[in-house]
Amino acid sequence: MVEYKAEILAVGTELLLGQIANTNAQWLSEQLADHGISVYFHGVVGDNLERVRSTFELASKRSDLIIVTGGLGPTDDDLTREAFQLLTNKKLTEDQLAMEKITNFFLKANRQMTPNNRKQARVFDDAIVLQNETGMAPGMIVEYKGSIWVFLPGVPREMKSITANHVFPYLKEKLELNTVIQSRMLRFIGIGESQLEHDLKSLIDAQHNPTIAPLASEGEVALRLTARAKTKVDANKLIEGSEVQIMDLVGDYFYGYDDVTIQEKVFHLLKNKNWTISSAESLTGGKFADEFVSISGASAVFNGAVVSYATEAKKNLLEVDSNTIDQYGTVSKQCAEEMAHNVKGKLNSTLGISFTGVAGPESVEEKSVGTVFISVSGIDTVDTKEFHFQGNREGIRNRTVKKGFELLYKYIQNLK
Ligand code: ATP
Ligand code: MG
Repeated sequence: MVEYKAEILAVGTELLLGQIANTNAQWLSEQLADHGISVYFHGVVGDNLERVRSTFELASKRSDLIIVTGGLGPTDDDLTREAFQLLTNKKLTEDQLAMEKITNFFLKANRQMTPNNRKQARVFDDAIVLQNETGMAPGMIVEYKGSIWVFLPGVPREMKSITANHVFPYLKEKLELNTVIQSRMLRFIGIGESQLEHDLKSLIDAQHNPTIAPLASEGEVALRLTARAKTKVDANKLIEGSEVQIMDLVGDYFYGYDDVTIQEKVFHLLKNKNWTISSAESLTGGKFADEFVSISGASAVFNGAVVSYATEAKKNLLEVDSNTIDQYGTVSKQCAEEMAHNVKGKLNSTLGISFTGVAGPESVEEKSVGTVFISVSGIDTVDTKEFHFQGNREGIRNRTVKKGFELLYKYIQNLK
């Protein structure tokens, strides 16, 4: 498969000033990726003839396909054509169809057409002219020194319609883009991004088709596998081959595909077993319950939560033994264990989970910020773990809840 190096250039001082964001490049990059074309560079240049010319010169040397947006309009600061002409000596002529369109627009609008509007109809004489169905300035495709250049108006709506209606049909034929792209996300929990990358280093270094892209988010990591092939079936085969190798190395941490969440995964596992759960929450303040109840159908599995934030609540609502608290404190393995065990009993559930710890910013009972105990009271076991999370109050609370789901997932998996 031939690799085309694509580059996207946006012309416009307003982009450099931060007045608008370069959404054109983002959209085009996505589209090109979907068609299996790799984008190597994004560039933005202001409305300055020499700087646009030199930017074009650089692109001409390093890219096979260059898509330029903006600077095709009627005003003096629209310099894209002039800069390309300066580089290439290509001649500009007036496109009849485009000129008629512009003239008609002003006639219909009953407005005087200023002479500078003619500028918009000018195209390179060897260009394939791409009619602009939603605006005035047409797009163009030209070749120069072995590269394909595509010029598009800056207005996103016009840029998109010309791209979809004219640019891709052209590129598909020209570049023989008869490939199909398939991708699959593999989700992992309980392993950090750097560890995952380390374990998969040889695979990631050798990746080509499919490509393997790690993505880290709150408390979990995902790998996006993207394959190209002649058919969907072939692309999926490539993905499956790579997946088998990945699972051999880090399969212990895998929990699901694509858009599934660890919360949903835990919910489905519990539901399939006809099990129920309830939570005793101190620092998480009901966050675990909230995430559980956000899943539709949660009532089949989730019995309830006791938010026992104050020490008194732990004693009165959950009947944590005063001696336990006097001896070990509320941020302790012993307290977590009783909380999980007692909430399970009180709410008559198969499993109980508890969260107690220090969300900060002040430390509690001489325990440092981020110290968290999570206890899972299982069928006939109780498993309590101590963690030291980093971050601010919100971050620690989020990590705690996520960790809770991870522990539940592992508990249920290990029973199988
Ligand atoms: P016009 O005929 O409207 O002058 P043009 O091809 O000359 O079109 P520009 O003048 O560069 O294009 O941009 C027109 C408008 O399109 C800008 O004011 C801006 O709102 C939007 N635009 C331009 N470039 C981008 C970009 N890269 N990303 C998002 N929006 C853009
Ligand atoms: Mg303009």
